[in-house]
Amino acid sequence: MRNFIAAAAAALLAFPASAQSPPPPKLLVVISVDQFSADLFDEYRPQFTGGLARLASGTVFRNGYESHANTDTCPGHSTILTGDHPARTGIIGNTWVDQSLRRPDKVVYCSDDPQAPGSSHSEYRVSAIQLRVPTLGDLLKARSPESRNVAVAGKDRAAVMMSGHRADQRWYWNGKQFTSDLVGVRPPPSVAGANAAVARLIATPAPGLQPPPFCSAKAQPIPVQGHAPVGAGTLARAAGDEDSFEASPEFDGGVLALAAGLVRDMHLGQGSAPDVLSVGLSATDYVGHRYGTEGQEMCLNLLELDREIGDFLTYLDGTGVDYAVALTADHGGQDLPERLRLHGVPDAQRVDPALAARAVGSSIGAKLGLSGPVLFGDVSGDIYIDHSLSSADRARALQEAVRSYRSHPQVAAVFTHDEIAHTPMPTTSPDKWSLIERVRASFDAQRSGDFVVVLKEHVTPIGHVTRSVATHGSPWDYDRRVPILFWRPGFRGATVQVPADTVDIMPTLAALIELPLAPGSVDGHCLDGTPATCSH
Ligand code: ZN
Repeated sequence: MRNFIAAAAAALLAFPASAQSPPPPKLLVVISVDQFSADLFDEYRPQFTGGLARLASGTVFRNGYESHANTDTCPGHSTILTGDHPARTGIIGNTWVDQSLRRPDKVVYCSDDPQAPGSSHSEYRVSAIQLRVPTLGDLLKARSPESRNVAVAGKDRAAVMMSGHRADQRWYWNGKQFTSDLVGVRPPPSVAGANAAVARLIATPAPGLQPPPFCSAKAQPIPVQGHAPVGAGTLARAAGDEDSFEASPEFDGGVLALAAGLVRDMHLGQGSAPDVLSVGLSATDYVGHRYGTEGQEMCLNLLELDREIGDFLTYLDGTGVDYAVALTADHGGQDLPERLRLHGVPDAQRVDPALAARAVGSSIGAKLGLSGPVLFGDVSGDIYIDHSLSSADRARALQEAVRSYRSHPQVAAVFTHDEIAHTPMPTTSPDKWSLIERVRASFDAQRSGDFVVVLKEHVTPIGHVTRSVATHGSPWDYDRRVPILFWRPGFRGATVQVPADTVDIMPTLAALIELPLAPGSVDGHCLDGTPATCSH
């Protein structure tokens, strides 16, 4: 009987999207879980009982896409609240090369102001200056200046890309504490409180988590050359170990606690116009890089994440604020090749270090009689030709580099700047995009490389392991496919198989708060079947 009453109550609360809609929510909470692939979401969904289970009772696009090729953190976060692909946001990577820079370091970090005196891509002044488009929060504040645009994240680039140019408060972890790039903004009291609490946490050893059977079944140590075995850890941490803290759910707990504190201090959702709170949860990414995605460590992390998001939503419930939540990821991820091979992916392998731009550039230089590095870049993605070479030598270097990369058995494709520039932006569903269309969505004529190298599927772009054992960043679907969830109290949605794109999140949320967007002003479109009423 109790179940029947609960079901009847839920049915009364539920409202179909086509019927009379309730007024717009007063607070939009947008959560990005770094490296939370759709593969992980699908695998763990039956285990979730907390916040992720609650959000999954809304609308779930289980085939969401960070549809562009360069599936790194900064480009991914730049799509979520701008509604635009990196080709429009300008955020083509976490870093790119700008040989015209006056500073000695020609590498630009995506949240870096390269004009800042004495800066480099690793010692940078945090800024949104590289983001070429406004965010939802920026547009909302243009309409209603009393709206607050607030972000808190484990990484500066997550907070910057989701809040954009007109943030009221923006806090991120700098490795030691939560800090902000906004000048002249008074920290709400919860910032000092969160910093003190996290400092106490880091100073205290963590004994590790007790794995439930679902997780302990994954506890198999995987040998990795040059690295300690991974797979059977419990996320234990010695006192003062900041790196291990970041690769533990305690880190996300700290970010969510600060997010709750900002809701309280700033009375978010209680003003005359809607507010936006962006939350970037980074621990899953650090766990994925450090231990891979299919071991006991990720299992323990995701079950804790579920619980922590649940606690955060319970806190929001208690404020009485009318809020709505969207949750997604900045990219997916792939497990380490050593374990993938055991799990039936025989072609999983590490990249040949000879593919590094520096190594290829050096051999091209020797062959063509060119001095200097010839090429700048990584083992894949955007590669740049040294602009100090004559134009004739640059043309020879390009031809030779493309030939050399294309002849390597680990390389799937090489596309030149011109080939990409002449490819129209794809307009079909992101699951149908060709490789060059994915690369096109990551392309910025000014910032992109002279050519782009795409590694074959299951080639991990980490050759010799020093720190990370696994990563993301490829145009393959394990890195592109992410869950996209929309939830609002009283709204009951469904699981949708039809693909969606993370650029659709912003126009969907804009519709939900009745913020008009100029036609064609964003790449994405409002998603039907969500708490928003789309006016197509
Ligand atoms: Zn990321």
